Amino acid sequence: MDALRFCLLALAAVVTVIATALPAFAVDLPVVSNLRVGTHPDKVRIVLDMDQRVDFSIFLLPDPYRVVIDVPEVAFRLPETTTDRTIGPVAGWRYGQFRAGTSRVVIDASSPVQVKSAFVLPPSGAQQYRLVIDLVPSTRDAFLTDSDASIKRHVALSAPRISPPPAAPAPLPTSDDRLTIVIDAGHGGVDPGAIGHEGAYEKDIVLAAARTLKESLEATGRYKAVLTREDDSFIRLRERIAIARRVDADLFLSLHADSIGDASLRGLSVYTLSENASDKEAEALATSENKADIVAGIDLSHQEPEVTNILIDLAQRRTMNYSARLAGYVVREMERETKLLGRPHRFAGFAVLKAPDVPSILVELGFLSNREDNKRLQDPAYRRKVAAGLTRAIDRYFQGVQAAFR
Ligand SMILES: [Zn+2]
Repeated sequence: MDALRFCLLALAAVVTVIATALPAFAVDLPVVSNLRVGTHPDKVRIVLDMDQRVDFSIFLLPDPYRVVIDVPEVAFRLPETTTDRTIGPVAGWRYGQFRAGTSRVVIDASSPVQVKSAFVLPPSGAQQYRLVIDLVPSTRDAFLTDSDASIKRHVALSAPRISPPPAAPAPLPTSDDRLTIVIDAGHGGVDPGAIGHEGAYEKDIVLAAARTLKESLEATGRYKAVLTREDDSFIRLRERIAIARRVDADLFLSLHADSIGDASLRGLSVYTLSENASDKEAEALATSENKADIVAGIDLSHQEPEVTNILIDLAQRRTMNYSARLAGYVVREMERETKLLGRPHRFAGFAVLKAPDVPSILVELGFLSNREDNKRLQDPAYRRKVAAGLTRAIDRYFQGVQAAFR
């Protein structure tokens, strides 16, 4: 596989959208009551039985070969089946909610396939609506080409949703000369992140912190802040990066709150991307934060090393220097506001920091496993203090960058 292909695969892919509009207010979720696979002389037919007509989009992923079908959020009420799921090239399937508003069916294939056709049949007799997907044998080269084509078309299309996307803001008008800061509240939806000893979820704490930081930044009049998620929804790591690039972000800040076995450990720390983790703790943390995508049932991690290397080789070095500079300002400003972890600026391979052209840092606000940190992070006044410190650090960063260009 060539470099470009890996790069492209790093993006989410969506191909076919065949659609009739959904009712504006779906009171009940559509119910998928069965998934059937049948072999025909010339094809394998996959049928999803459902009680409503739904939008769908299909894309292909290689290694292993997968056909991914996204639909608006549905209720899966499939019969328990013990039958063999190996039928022709179909090696099995999985399904579930992918994120708020989107459900996903993944068909595993043992050999390359092509989506010959995909359509919805209206009810007929005892039959409900049926989403029909016909697969025919293909070659590896053709599969890869189809997969790529789907990725290219993704630029123009977005996955079907019932609710509007929480995190796809339009680019800023050029008349607005404020700097754009993307604030990324870690985790969300099916992925709670770390859990505090009194049951607080990292995903909730960092969302609250992100909102406070947005207010603080925008109050200066110098910044426009864009959140990667505005609510409790799951967003893939790559999508978070894609948002930063889509809005042409000047900075990307990912907010997290860690949990660790040693309950005495506390304090804020700042991470920037590096191929080599600065220490074992940093590496372990990056590994656990990078698991977010796996939690949601898609795992492209086998493509990570290639993507990582390409991105770093291309543009990362310069961006990493800027990121490190910002991290330095954050450490200096936050020292005045709160307790920091020992060696507060650390390095590791966080997937969410891999935008090649947007300076990015990841702030671990503290440890939910520590009683004091856990309490403070749930205190709005404390979050305002943190936001004020981060805002000053960002001010100083841009002053420094502007001075360098004079
Ligand atoms: Zn986290």
